[in-house]
Amino acid sequence: RQPVAVVGAGVAGLAAAVRLAVAGHPVTVFEASASFGGKMHQFDLPGAAGAYRFDAGPSLFTLPQLVDDIFRLAHRAPADYFRYERLDPITNYFFADGTRLTAWADADKFAAEVEQKLGVPAGDVAQFLARSGRAYDATAGTFLHKSLHKAGTYLSPETLKAVAALPSLGLTGTMHARHESAFGRDPRLVQLFDRYATYNGSDPYQAPATLSLIPHLEHGIGAFYPEGGIYAIAQSLHRLAEEFGVKFRFGEPVREILTAGTLVTGVRTDQDIYDFGLVVSNMDVVPTYRRLLPSQPAPERTLAQPRSSSALIFYWGVGRSFPELDVHNIFFSADYKAEFDAIFQQKTVADDVTVYVNITSKKTLTDAPAGHENWFVMVNVPHDEGQDWAALTAQTRRVVLAKLSRALGVELEPLIRAEKTWTPPGIAADTSSFGGALYGSSSNNALAAFLRHPNFSGRLDGLYFCGGSVHPGGGIPLCLLSAKIVAELILN
Ligand code: FAD
Repeated sequence: RQPVAVVGAGVAGLAAAVRLAVAGHPVTVFEASASFGGKMHQFDLPGAAGAYRFDAGPSLFTLPQLVDDIFRLAHRAPADYFRYERLDPITNYFFADGTRLTAWADADKFAAEVEQKLGVPAGDVAQFLARSGRAYDATAGTFLHKSLHKAGTYLSPETLKAVAALPSLGLTGTMHARHESAFGRDPRLVQLFDRYATYNGSDPYQAPATLSLIPHLEHGIGAFYPEGGIYAIAQSLHRLAEEFGVKFRFGEPVREILTAGTLVTGVRTDQDIYDFGLVVSNMDVVPTYRRLLPSQPAPERTLAQPRSSSALIFYWGVGRSFPELDVHNIFFSADYKAEFDAIFQQKTVADDVTVYVNITSKKTLTDAPAGHENWFVMVNVPHDEGQDWAALTAQTRRVVLAKLSRALGVELEPLIRAEKTWTPPGIAADTSSFGGALYGSSSNNALAAFLRHPNFSGRLDGLYFCGGSVHPGGGIPLCLLSAKIVAELILN
């Protein structure tokens, strides 16, 4: 088996490294940062009462079996490396009109809660979720688990069945229109389901109704919490990679992918030149072309696809506990359309925003000093195009504090004991993600799935791509699937 270089130790780079090492390839991972994880890193914030631990990026974890699969592939018991529990409740919702609603894990219990709090018949919700499940079952195998850029995918009967199923599943039109037709009577429920567009950084008013299958991930399969927090995913994969002999070169960014004619021949770093006939880039695909392959023709149409949203995150050590909150909490804006127009049309942050508060110390008690909580407070914002982020951050911080203080009936700012902020330019600088977009390109168009960069180069033999900026897209599960597709392409 040929040696492989993996550029980047994000979750997809780690998963690709493990899969290839298990198959017998000698693998070296080059990582620009001092450690692994990329967007999935962790840090501590010191406070007078003690330290607060934070997962910097992802907080919601679905499809844990995709992590388990990697351990099974390596003939290891997943639970020896990584444990998780199913969350119940999944999310606490706070609507702008003061309504509070709990999204229970069990679909029927959730539907009953919706009927009680919003007056929408439980049957409508159950029917919608069942349809979302059927849509997922009919399409995931084709659109997420395989390369969409290999003829073989289209020749399979499964693909033909998946494409034929789309209209009958009500998956034409936009996501918002789909939710209005299902729940038009209650704009709050439409808003709740529209929010799933943000799971891949998209706009429900533009994104295709196919994204309406996302709720099935939470209510059909489950939302999970890894023991110790999300970073445990990266830690467990790193440990497995080391056990299979993967070499990690931290603090050694790749400066160039070397080529000869149509072949990849290695990578160049500041330290050395390394020979490799196989290179897997886990770096965002835009800077991979612009910085590492500057003399190669780039797939301009693909790289010009609109970016997904980014995020403004306030990490707060909070000097009190809030029993009315759980791990995942959403405080909705009053006008969702205006909020998404601000992000995707005006490329700014709306005056009223939806605020997501994630508190891992609800589960991992050591993540905050006793009686305190670690709040990851996130607002969806556009990717960086040179906006005045200092001004937008200050304005959004005021809006968020006022909104949370009002909803919780307590003055929040005096409770903040430790603080750090991550902005789109910060995300771009720390992870090389183009514009700090969280999920690569957005899914704001029906063909987005086909317009994402393939998991291989059409021009250079030996060059492969994994991670959130390429097929099948961003988010932990899809990044893990990109690694699976890359490994299968290389091994086959
Ligand atoms: P990345 O995490 O982007 O890592 C790429 C790595 O490559 C980095 O470590 C970088 O340093 C390294 N690198 C780049 N260039 C070079 C180079 N030239 N040489 C060497 N190394 C290089 N997903 C979910 O599933 N659920 C969520 O709740 C969720 N919330 C999110 C919230 C935030 C704030 C963020 C930022 C992301 C969130 N996501 C979420 C998305 C998810 O985190 C990402 O899709 C996923 O972690 C991206 O992984 P990746 O493998 O593409 O690599």
